[in-house]
Amino acid sequence: MTCPICRRPTTEVYKPFCSMRCANIDLSRWFDGTYTIALSATEDAEGDGGTDNALPSDGDESDTTNW
Ligand SMILES: [Zn+2]
Repeated sequence: MTCPICRRPTTEVYKPFCSMRCANIDLSRWFDGTYTIALSATEDAEGDGGTDNALPSDGDESDTTNW
């Protein structure tokens, strides 16, 4: 078996990686991915919930002032 990060032979202690360093690299990569997904998910939720019921009365007002 080889380390998925640097392709060196794995160590029994840090399986499936060769060293603590490569294990940490893989962990941080995985964490970064989930963090980015969570961030975009919250952004989407905020965009959907931000619907204001503002009435467009500006056009009517300008019509009344015309005559
Ligand atoms: Zn490695």
